[in-house]
Amino acid sequence: MQKIVVAGGGYAGLGAIGALQKLQDAEIILIEPGSGHQLIPELPEALAKHGSIDNHVVPYDSLLAETRVKYIRHYVTNVNVERRVVCLDNKDEVSYDWLVLATGSEPAMPPIPGLRDVAHTLRDAHDARKIKNELQYGKEQRVAVIGGGLTGVEVAGMLAEDHDVILVEAFDRLLPALGLGLSQYAYRRLIAAGVTVVMGQKLVRVNPPRIELEKDHYEYDVLIWAGGITPPKWIKTTELPLNVAGYPLADAYGQVLPQIFVAGDLWHVVIDGQEIPATAQLAAIAGNFVGDTIISRITNDGSPGPAFRPRLRGMLISLDEGQGVGWVLHGGIPVRGFSARTLKNISFQQYRLKLSKIFDRPWPLLEPRD
Ligand SMILES: Cc1cc2nc3c(=O)[nH]c(=O)nc-3n(C[C@H](O)[C@H](O)[C@H](O)COP(=O)(O)OP(=O)(O)OC[C@H]3O[C@@H](n4cnc5c(N)ncnc54)[C@H](O)[C@@H]3O)c2cc1C
Repeated sequence: MQKIVVAGGGYAGLGAIGALQKLQDAEIILIEPGSGHQLIPELPEALAKHGSIDNHVVPYDSLLAETRVKYIRHYVTNVNVERRVVCLDNKDEVSYDWLVLATGSEPAMPPIPGLRDVAHTLRDAHDARKIKNELQYGKEQRVAVIGGGLTGVEVAGMLAEDHDVILVEAFDRLLPALGLGLSQYAYRRLIAAGVTVVMGQKLVRVNPPRIELEKDHYEYDVLIWAGGITPPKWIKTTELPLNVAGYPLADAYGQVLPQIFVAGDLWHVVIDGQEIPATAQLAAIAGNFVGDTIISRITNDGSPGPAFRPRLRGMLISLDEGQGVGWVLHGGIPVRGFSARTLKNISFQQYRLKLSKIFDRPWPLLEPRD
């Protein structure tokens, strides 16, 4: 019987397990430190006044109750390639025949003086709880959000109704992953919602209660850093080959070494010379792909199969609880306003439905195990 270990129960890890469950005769082990699958793209809305973080975390006990997946609640800290074992934070080792590393990414925080001491990041439910504990809902509190990409824009938009928000972006436009027209739309919506948007200036120092930009400075009560992602620290201490950005060096199948694959944010996907932005959608597709690839290697059907070419269904960004912006369908049809926000909500619900189908659990997946 083949033993398949999946490290990380996020979008990619569960995508892989979803595929691997098709293998009748395999032992599947999930190693994951958290108690629940975090619906990370939904976290910005959990920060809004009536949002609840618990509504965006699906307990693994319940999710995996009807499966034969064994869930070990620990961190993977290293991989011993020669002995084919993963090392855990409690010093245990778990052997594998096949290994999927899907432990996600970490917020990238440059060495800007003062930043690390006071800024929040938003990468998981734990971060969201810490931010929420500091937020007071009334227009007086000043929230500074640094970074005008997907996370920064969504957080700024969600907090605008109950806070005095300033959004700072070093480049001269928001949301560089979208076309110019859509990023200008997002800018106008945020301004209309009362957000102060400062573009074209870098943050150079945090000197509480002030953020100092290249030219201007502003006072804040809560500071949120949304300046991109980086590979997790633990991966750098392994003997796995890494690319220049510090991610495991994977081929077009997500394979790093003969029995080791990566998926999700940990797989730095470049296709035809173009980097594909790390998203939950990409992670879920990649996890599934890697799971299927392992099945075909095990069943030894002789063909390496097609290389990874994800068919993305769109990219949608919330601008507040009722508005959004982005594109849908493979050709990239722009959408904005209420329709974009509605489509984003539908995509969240579709993901939950998919999970409930894969793991045979009742909708909406939030009930504790009975
Ligand atoms: C605020 C925010 C909003 C976003 N919005 C969107 C959006 O609207 N649409 C979209 O497509 N994407 C969005 N993203 C990006 C998306 O969340 C990520 O790309 C996606 O979660 C990556 O999936 P993953 O499975 O690789 O990692 P994750 O979902 O982060 O899962 C990683 C899992 O690994 C576990 N883990 C960590 N370290 C270890 C370890 N050492 N050993 C074992 N397990 C470990 C973690 O506990 C976690 O459960 C957003 C991200 C953020 C932060």
